[in-house]
Amino acid sequence: MSDQHNNQGVVVVTEEVCQAIMGRSDAFTAVENVFAAMSKNTAYNFPVIREAIGHADALYGFKSGFDRDSMVLGLKSGGYWPGNVEKGLTNHQSTVILFDPDTGKLKSLVGGNYLTAVRTAASSAVSIAHLARQDSKVLGMIGAGHQSTFQLRAAVEQRNFEKVVGWNIDPERLSILAEVCAELSLPFESVSREELCALSDVIITITSAFEALLDNAWIKPGTHIACMGTDTKGKQEVDAKLFRTATVFTDELAQSITIGEAQHAIQSGLIVESDIVPIGEVINGTNSGRTSEDEITLFDGTGVGLQDLAVASVAAELAQAKGQAFYINL
Ligand code: NAD
Repeated sequence: MSDQHNNQGVVVVTEEVCQAIMGRSDAFTAVENVFAAMSKNTAYNFPVIREAIGHADALYGFKSGFDRDSMVLGLKSGGYWPGNVEKGLTNHQSTVILFDPDTGKLKSLVGGNYLTAVRTAASSAVSIAHLARQDSKVLGMIGAGHQSTFQLRAAVEQRNFEKVVGWNIDPERLSILAEVCAELSLPFESVSREELCALSDVIITITSAFEALLDNAWIKPGTHIACMGTDTKGKQEVDAKLFRTATVFTDELAQSITIGEAQHAIQSGLIVESDIVPIGEVINGTNSGRTSEDEITLFDGTGVGLQDLAVASVAAELAQAKGQAFYINL
């Protein structure tokens, strides 16, 4: 039930409730729909604000937007507090605030920490669903941080993967991926970066690296690679030359060329903006996506505010439908 016409007040959905009710398939559908709306220009993201606040080494900001197709308006506010781990908290903190687009009235407050991981995993999963070869058998994971297990779980649902290979700068952390694979009855192997590229049909990069971890020459024909870690100026995960070798897709062009993985290929003149295809065009059928078995496809997943709003809106609806929402009056 939408809260638009009820009198119960502002809908509050806690982190715990988000974890209990928000499934991967709900997130996948919400993110796929919003990417499609973005490429039709019926949904758009507003400029992102992100500032070092000069306290607690924190980076704080907000991402906002409006999706006219699903009538979702709002923002995700939060950021990165590096000292939080010592306090027993997640370093990334965020909350989604949704408004009624007809009146501007506050509709919902939704915990954004769990949803951020779920919507980011849904983004690479959407790219795999639309761009990876149907016969993909080996998934390669670069990175073993907080996001990586969410990425892994969502990715393996998109193709009949038979094996997962992984690399992390600190190999001990790969145990978190190995545990998920054991749970899913998938063999897991720790490999070198070059071996990972030779073995994998689909690769996900989800690190905080500031230099290329994968060489253009290592990526074999037919690979789909989802670059998910680069969401800030200066970060980099793959060789910029790969942007010339691959057919390049993104969630949002404006972010891809400024804070996404494509920033380096753009800066060095290897590609121009028009070489990058919004994945929404593939979802809408206005771009054919992968056109051959040998083609390398690259998805630059930068993470847009509309993804957060889309999953938060679904979480608010599910929480109300399942009687797990709280209500407050302001
Ligand atoms: P995390 O801190 O939990 O993990 C970071 C990972 O990067 C670890 O595997 C770590 O070993 C690795 N790493 C750190 N420095 C490295 C280096 N110099 N070279 C190689 N590997 C290195 O972070 P997380 O929450 O898992 O997020 C991973 C990345 O994804 C971050 O850069 C984050 O900003 C980004 N992110 C992107 C989106 C999006 O929508 N695209 C959403 C959330 C997070």
